[in-house]
Amino acid sequence: MNKTGIVRDERYLNHKPGAFHPERPERLEAIYAMLNEPDMENRFHKVPVRRANRDELLWIHSPGYIDRIAATEGKNFWSLDPDTATSSGSYEAALLAVGGLCEAVSMVVSGKLDNAFALVRPPGHHAEKDRAMGFCLFNNVAIAARYAQELHHLKRILIVDWDLHHGNGTQHSFEDDASVLYFSTHQYPYYPGTGSLNQTGKGRGEGFTINVPLSPGHGDAEYVGIFEKVLKPIALEFNPNLVLVSAGFDTHQNDPLGGMRVTPKGYAGLTRSLVDIANTCCDGKVVITLEGGYDLQGLRSSVRAVLEQLSSLSKTHTAEIVSQGDQSALAYLQKHVYQVHGRFWKNLLKPSER
Ligand SMILES: [Zn+2]
Repeated sequence: MNKTGIVRDERYLNHKPGAFHPERPERLEAIYAMLNEPDMENRFHKVPVRRANRDELLWIHSPGYIDRIAATEGKNFWSLDPDTATSSGSYEAALLAVGGLCEAVSMVVSGKLDNAFALVRPPGHHAEKDRAMGFCLFNNVAIAARYAQELHHLKRILIVDWDLHHGNGTQHSFEDDASVLYFSTHQYPYYPGTGSLNQTGKGRGEGFTINVPLSPGHGDAEYVGIFEKVLKPIALEFNPNLVLVSAGFDTHQNDPLGGMRVTPKGYAGLTRSLVDIANTCCDGKVVITLEGGYDLQGLRSSVRAVLEQLSSLSKTHTAEIVSQGDQSALAYLQKHVYQVHGRFWKNLLKPSER
C-alpha cells in the first residue's frame, strides 16, 4: 500500500461564487462525504493546510493582482470576470488552496508521503499573472511547481492537465521555461480558446508545451491511449523530479459543461499511467490537484477511482482500456502530435513504428 495524502478543509466551502454557479461548495461536500464512507475513512493521511504567503503568490502573480483579490475579503459578492466571482471567504479559501497544495508537495518530496491529492477549491489553471478567469483566482498548480523548484530545489517538473478545458494560465506561466513541461488534453475549440497543437512554447521553452486538442466525444480508451502513447514517451525522456496533475473531472460522461465520455475507469487508467511515469522517473512522486468537474455523482466516483490507484487499493491495466477503443482514431491523434513534436522528442515515434 502507498502512503497517500489528502488535502481537505471545511474552509474551502466558504468560497461561494453565487447561486447557480457550477463551481459550487457542494462539489467538495460530495467528495468529502465519499471520503467518510467506511472503506475510505482513515485510509489517507491528512496534509496540514496553511495560507500561502505573498512571496509564493508572487512567483506567478503580479503584486497589483494579489492586492485586488485580497481586497475582496469580507465582501459578500465581487465580480472579477463574467465567470468568476468571490464571496467573503473566497480570498482565504484561495490562499488555503495554494498553501494546502504546497504542503502536499513538501510531504511528497520529503518522502513523508508517497503521493497526494489536494481536494481544494477554487480551482486554478485558468488564473493568469494579473487576471482571474474561468472560476480560478490563484494558479494553484503553477505556484506549486515553483514551490518545488524554489524550496525543494527540484530541477524538472512535469505538469499534466487532463481537465476538459485548456489551462491557459499554467501554459503562460511556463511557456518560455524548459524546466517545467506542460502537457494538456482538452476539448477544442472551446473555452478559453487557447491550446492549439501549434502552441509548443517559446524561446528556450520551445517543445516544453504540449497541447493535445480534442473534438468532443472522446472517452476512456482515447484518453488513456494518449497518455500511454504520447505523454509517456515524452515524459520518460523529460525525466521529471516531480509529477503535478491538474485533474478536472469535467471530461466525465455526465458533466454538464463538457462533451467527453470519460468514466471512473478512465480516470483510474490516467492515474495509473502517471504513477508508472513517476515510478520510473522520480520514486513515484505524484501530487494531484482538483480543477473542474460539475456532475456531483461523477465527481465523487471519479475522485474515488483516482485515490484507489494512488494508494494501490486497486491496479488498473492501461493496455486493456486502450485496446477497447478505436485504434484508428488514436493513430490519427498520435500522427498529428508527432508532426509537431517529433522534432523535439526523440522518444516520440511515428505511429507506424510502434
Ligand atoms: Zn474545466
